[in-house]
Amino acid sequence: MASLSTLPPSHLSHLTHCISALFHRHLRRLVALLSSPALFTLTLRHLQSLSLHHKSLLIARHLLSNLTLLKHFMQTPTTASPPPATLSSAACMKLRDLDAVLLLLLLCELHQHDREFLDAPSSQWRVILSEYASHSILRLSSFGGCSNGEALVQFIESARRCWNLVGAMGCGGGGEGKGGREAAASAAAVVALPSVAVRGGEECVICKEEMKEGRDVCELPCNHLFHWICILRWLKKRNTCPCCRHRLPTDDLRREIERLLEELAVIGGGGGGGLSHNWL
Ligand SMILES: [Zn+2]
Ligand SMILES: [Zn+2]
Repeated sequence: MASLSTLPPSHLSHLTHCISALFHRHLRRLVALLSSPALFTLTLRHLQSLSLHHKSLLIARHLLSNLTLLKHFMQTPTTASPPPATLSSAACMKLRDLDAVLLLLLLCELHQHDREFLDAPSSQWRVILSEYASHSILRLSSFGGCSNGEALVQFIESARRCWNLVGAMGCGGGGEGKGGREAAASAAAVVALPSVAVRGGEECVICKEEMKEGRDVCELPCNHLFHWICILRWLKKRNTCPCCRHRLPTDDLRREIERLLEELAVIGGGGGGGLSHNWL
């Protein structure tokens, strides 16, 4: 929220527009889900077949995909261009998973609202959920073009809920690196790192030895240089730069969400590290 308040008005209205579009896509799926008994039963069965761990992963991926899209829109404030295909395929979930996560979030929300709800036979859930959701669906769909902050508030509220659920379910960490803040950098990010030739004289901070002239060394996005062999070993255990703690992407969902939140805070002009929790 803090970083949103520092955005220029035009930037903010574009962002609001994009979030609103994303919201309406989810809303349409939810309406389809609640109005079709067959689709509802299918999705509920799919959801019930998932372990708690998988449910938590699903929510974490949903949050991650929303944040990825948000980051894209915040970085390209003036163009109304849709996200590139690579981004959308990475950021968009399969419809079946999207349905499942939307249903799961609605179930959690209603459960918080009415503790007895889950005691009702599951054959009645669709009707109960439809009644519960119709109010908020009507309210959300009424802002159409959305110049007010309703979509933004809803987005942040929903992100906060996802984040809390991922925390409450006790995973979302992809099963690795539990307990600490570090996780291995993602293989895709490591493969994409460039080689650069050095002029010599500089020291690799990992092994404290000189990076000899003419030799290829690895450059991280923060411009810090290291011997390839040293940094590859390092990135197997951590996704941060040894010099400045710049974070590389990771396959660990929980830490990837934290990384994106930090980046969003920086893009939003919030100044960076440690601000992530102002968002949620
Ligand atoms: Zn080295
Ligand atoms: Zn660095």
